[in-house]
Parts: sequence; C-alpha cells; structure tokens
Amino acid sequence: MRKGVAVSPGVAVGTAYCIDEIFVDHDAKQLAEDEVASELALYETARDKVAAELHNLEQKVTAQVGEAAGRIFAVHASILADPAFTKRIRNWIGDEKVTAAAALQRLLNDYASLFARTKDEYLRERFTDIRDVVMRLSAHVSEVLKPQSHVLPGPLIVVTDELLPSQAVTLGNVDVRGIVTQAGSQTSHAAIIARSRGIPAVCGLRGALKHVTTGDTLVVDGREGVVLINPPPETLSAYRKLEREFFHLKDQLAANRDHAAATSDGVALELLANINNAADARAATAMGATGIGLFRTEYLYLTHPTVPDEDEQFQAYSEIIASSPGHRVTIRTLDIGGDKTVPYLGHTHQEANPFLGWRSIRLSFEHPDFFNVQLRAILRAAGAAGEKSGNVRLLFPMITTVEEIHKVRRIVRRAEQQLQREGKPYASVPLGMMLEVPAAAVSIRAMLRVVDFVSVGSNDLVQYLMAADRDNPKVNHLCQPLSPPVLRVLYSVIKACNKAGKPLTLCGEMAGQPRAFVLLLGMGLRSFSMSPAFIPSVKELATHLTAKDAQTILKRALRFSTTAGVKRFMSEQLQQLAPNLALLETT
Ligand code: PEP
Ligand code: MG
Repeated sequence: MRKGVAVSPGVAVGTAYCIDEIFVDHDAKQLAEDEVASELALYETARDKVAAELHNLEQKVTAQVGEAAGRIFAVHASILADPAFTKRIRNWIGDEKVTAAAALQRLLNDYASLFARTKDEYLRERFTDIRDVVMRLSAHVSEVLKPQSHVLPGPLIVVTDELLPSQAVTLGNVDVRGIVTQAGSQTSHAAIIARSRGIPAVCGLRGALKHVTTGDTLVVDGREGVVLINPPPETLSAYRKLEREFFHLKDQLAANRDHAAATSDGVALELLANINNAADARAATAMGATGIGLFRTEYLYLTHPTVPDEDEQFQAYSEIIASSPGHRVTIRTLDIGGDKTVPYLGHTHQEANPFLGWRSIRLSFEHPDFFNVQLRAILRAAGAAGEKSGNVRLLFPMITTVEEIHKVRRIVRRAEQQLQREGKPYASVPLGMMLEVPAAAVSIRAMLRVVDFVSVGSNDLVQYLMAADRDNPKVNHLCQPLSPPVLRVLYSVIKACNKAGKPLTLCGEMAGQPRAFVLLLGMGLRSFSMSPAFIPSVKELATHLTAKDAQTILKRALRFSTTAGVKRFMSEQLQQLAPNLALLETT
C-alpha cells in the first residue's frame, strides 16, 4: 500500500498501465526487415509535420507576440533541420531495427546524460529546446495514450509521472477507471482532469513508476489517497464492493440531472460547471449543470500544436457556447504562468516565485496584441451566438487592484471599437473578476463598484492567504479551504457581494466538496461552479438541508480555531445529513 494525495474521490480497481513521461511506445520492439522502410517513412512524415508546425508557430508568434518570442521556434526548426539529429534516428531505425518512438527516446536519453553534467544555465536551456522538439516528433510517431487495451485485461488504471494535457484529451477513448501520478497535487492538471471526468485519482505518489509495472492489479482509493498494488484476494473483493457502490451512487445521483437545484426549503441554487474543453462542456450538460461557470481557456493553448489564431479561437468558443444552449457561459482569459507555462510568451521556469510572478492577467497586459486576439475572438463568438449572447461573460484572472479593472475595461472597449470599424459582428458582455488575491478580498467594496460580477477562485485565494504553494508537497498541507482564516475571508467577501447586489460565484475546487459546500451555503452563497462530476452529489446534498440549517452549522463551525476541529465537526454533520455521500468526500 502506498500513500499519495487524494485528489478525486471514489474507488477504482483495474489493470495498471504505466506510461512514461513522454513515450508510450517504450517497449523496445524489434522491427522486421520489411517494416524498416515504413518506420523510416513514419519518421519522415512526422518531421515534415513538425517542420510545418514550427514554421506556423514562428509566424503567428512573431505577429502576435513579437520577434524575440517567435525566434524560439526558429531555433527549434534549426534543431529539427540539423542533419546529425536525423542521421542518428535513421541509423537506429535502419541498422538496429528499433521503432521511431524508441529511437527518439534513445536520442533524448543521450542528450539528457550529456547535459546532466553541465551546470551552464544556457546549455541547460538548449536541452529544454531539444526536448521540446523531440516531444513534438514523438507525438506524431507514437499514438499518445492509446494503450494496447486489447492485450491488457479489463479496465485500466493509468500510472504516469504527470498527466500531460495532450494525453488527457485522448483519455476519453479508452476505459480508464483510475489515475495515479507521481507529481502533482489537488490542483494540478491531472487532478482537475480526473475530477472533471469523475475518475478516482491519487496524485503525488512518489516512485509510483518504480513500484508499479504494467499489468499489475491496482486499487485506487481516491477518498484516502491510497493505492494498493496486487492486494490479496480478500482485500481486492472488499474494494470491488466499494467500487460497485461508487458506481451505483454515481448512477443514482445522475438521475437527478433534470431536477432544479434547491435546498429542502426551496431556496434556488445555481450549479455551474468548470470546464477545460468542448468534451467537458458536453459532460457538464449531461450532469445537469445549468451553465459554465469557468472555462479555463489556457487548455486551448496548452493542447494546440501551434498558437490558436483568432478564427481558431472563435471556433472553439462558439463550440462551447453551442454545447451549453440557453445557458450562461463564463469564459476566462488566459491564465498562464505559475504551474502552467507557454514558452512562446517568453515564459520560462526561471522565476524564483512563479506563483507570485509574471502570470495570468499580468502576462496578458504585457502582450497586448496577443490579449487582443483572444478578446476579439470571444466578443465575436458572443455576437455570433445571437440572442444567447447575453449569456456569455468575460472573466479576468488574478485581478489585484482596481486600476487593473479600469485597464481591462479600456482594452475591451478598444477591441470592440476595432471590430465595429471592421464591420465584424460582436456583442458586448459583462466583465467580471476572479477574486483570488488577498488584496482584492480586502478591497472588495471598491472592486465591486467597477466590475459586473465576481468569481471567487478559492484554489489560488487559499494558497495566497496561507503563503503556501498549492503544488509544493512540502507545504501544501497548509492549503486548507476549511481552515478558520479562509472561512472568515470567504464569509466577508460573500456578505459584501450580496449586500452590493453583485452576482457572485465560487469556482474553486471547494465548491464541489460536500463539507465546504454546506458552509458556503450557510454564508449566503447561491452560485457554485465545479467539476461536472460533482454536480449530482452537491444537488443531492442540498435537498438534505434548509438554508437555515446551513447557517446554524456555519455559526458552530466558525467557533473552531483549528482546521482539524472544523473538519471533524463538518464530517459529523455530513454523516448526519447524508451518510451515503461520505464516499464522495476526500480527506
Ligand atoms: C482558482 O484559483 O480557484 C481557480 C478556479 O482557478 P485555477 O484553479 O484555474 O487557478
Ligand atoms: Mg486561479
């Protein structure tokens, strides 16, 4: 038994499928003589495709961001064009009869050991460039996350170092029942993706790839953050029973998708979905979400092989709006930096404090052309949606000062004027702020005078309040949404918004956690945005209590001075209110 971080609740039993950080096809298959030519052709085609991608990237990035950023891709193209690079690959395929994927892996390993010996920062950076080129090539030669499910029995548990967004996109195609990662925490990509799919997951399990081999039987307990490797039959059957209960509960809850969300005394609630792509938007509708509370547009950039241009973005936003007919769709502008990086924005891993650094709206402000492309695409998609355009809203991440909101308004106005001059249809939409920086919480009253709506990003708000990086396993135990200081800050923000009559949503992960949900309800919050998979259980929980009950529970919870006290008390309350939902809470 191994312990990691519980990030997506539920229990799953399945066959381990280990994927290397980059390469899926790492079993060193020997090619037959007559396969060599087609493998060489596979590599050549991949090289042509990558060359075209890099050329496209260089042009778009130069136009949207500037020459210095565009040059990164010229460097990548020159690495790709280096005859020595390709010669080694060709030789390995031709002489040693290894697959193109295995040859690329070998090349990367060779470079890694070469560069490992250097302390020179500049050379290390060059390795990052080479790695990027190899990753692009490997994505074309090996089918990422297409496990040989035909040779592996039963449902799969994916075991990986870190789930890449590009891999996650293809997750929907195979029967993945559980996810285990070596890196990551509650708020990493893998965790967010697992929750949005309702897949039990454990992150931060150090050495997972060392201890687990493809084909092992695994149990993933996403409530406790525990993974069992080849457990004895009696343990396995106990977990299989829990897994059946989990499925049963999910089915039962999904049946409430068409019921309106309300407390037992009829107080209406708005349950919205956090989404990363169009597949999530469809899942949201299937789970009974009445709109999109948060569309994280950075995934558009992270999963796109080049920079999505205005028309590509317009298509993507239009697709999301169309898949949520008649509902509100809140689109958040690029929130890159911190844990998510995009090299073409000149963003590197060099910052000493990335979460306190150049991320999010701060980065968008410094790339006005790039930012403008995104705003224009969103405003046009809102316009194209016609009558439904009143439902599109624009949300800006990491707002820290009132001045930033004024600046956002000016930039949006300029984008609208541009579209008007060009005769392109668009719609004006409400502009809102993510409240995730403590300074903004402190000055909430002034902020409310200049924004149309507020969305609390509690994932970030918690890490900034506690001064503890949410992705650093050494300190993220401090990031507790149920801690007394966090609860006090949230309560004051909710009261201020309600008093000013400004629409307010909370879109951090805590919105979908049963204990936190009860407390937020008690504080007067009525709009919650969460991973789609949590909507049915939150809706069910709401029917077990009145708004007054929630208030009484909140008052009692606020008397505790420790997180452990609040958690214990809330677990008891939940046990009394809806014991069957305990299976869906993480520790
Ligand atoms: C948050 O910070 O709570 C949030 C919803 O945004 P993200 O997790 O994408 O930073
Ligand atoms: Mg955030």
